Amino acid sequence: MQINLQIASDNNQNQLTWFPANLSGLNRRFDCRPATDLLRWGLVTFGDEIVLATGFGPSGIVLMHMASQIRPRPKVFYLQTDLFFPETITLRDELAEHLDIEFIEVHSGLSLIDQAQQFGPELWRHNPDLCCHMRKVEPLRRFLAGKKAWISGIRRDQSPTRAHTPLVAWDSANHLLKLNPLAAWSKEWVWDYLQKYKLPYNKLHNEGYTSIGCRPCTRAVVPGETERAGRWSGLNKTECGIHIQADGQVVRRLIQAPNGSS
Ligand code: SF4
Repeated sequence: MQINLQIASDNNQNQLTWFPANLSGLNRRFDCRPATDLLRWGLVTFGDEIVLATGFGPSGIVLMHMASQIRPRPKVFYLQTDLFFPETITLRDELAEHLDIEFIEVHSGLSLIDQAQQFGPELWRHNPDLCCHMRKVEPLRRFLAGKKAWISGIRRDQSPTRAHTPLVAWDSANHLLKLNPLAAWSKEWVWDYLQKYKLPYNKLHNEGYTSIGCRPCTRAVVPGETERAGRWSGLNKTECGIHIQADGQVVRRLIQAPNGSS
């Protein structure tokens, strides 16, 4: 399996050559239509200038399968934080083989050793916002620079912060369109789809992990807890920062670094 590794570089061009003046029209057009319609529209409209993101959750696997039916050997990127569970890496390799995905690994360029030397050990314990910002948010911003659209697997039923996710949004933090083809899907639909097409999934889901991110910031949930309750448990944090929205507007937290820069 070949993985295309990219260190996110800071050549942000932010050249906007296309975006719809009326996102509500696009949202109406794809409302109540199959998720594959929006996904196909995005892939056909933007060609190589649209990218599919995954964190290797169940919804992302659904989108990867749909994309593989639309376009042979689709490119899918993920944010490599160096803190994945081994089970997540195993899943990545299974998906690459099973669906013939070409994965693009996007890395911050900051090793865990360098991070610890600059910001102290286990930054995720005392400043998880900064940790996420450096290992996820900024690499994403640099990777998306120059792209025209990206595709995410987030759903409205995952958490209150995602309850108003539109099918098509303007990502004002990264200056491009964001398609959320599964916004209206339920958790049950997603798992039915995985079973119907016999798709691989993260084996940690069998051990009570309902949402899986970095090892230090993920725990299994107990019955009655929400899907994302095991993420940053015990901390006043529910999102890494790449999907934070309020009424369609991206809201970015102010990340205060120890040296005062933001
Ligand atoms: Fe750091 Fe945790 Fe965010 Fe991963 S999820 S980047 S370990 S704070």
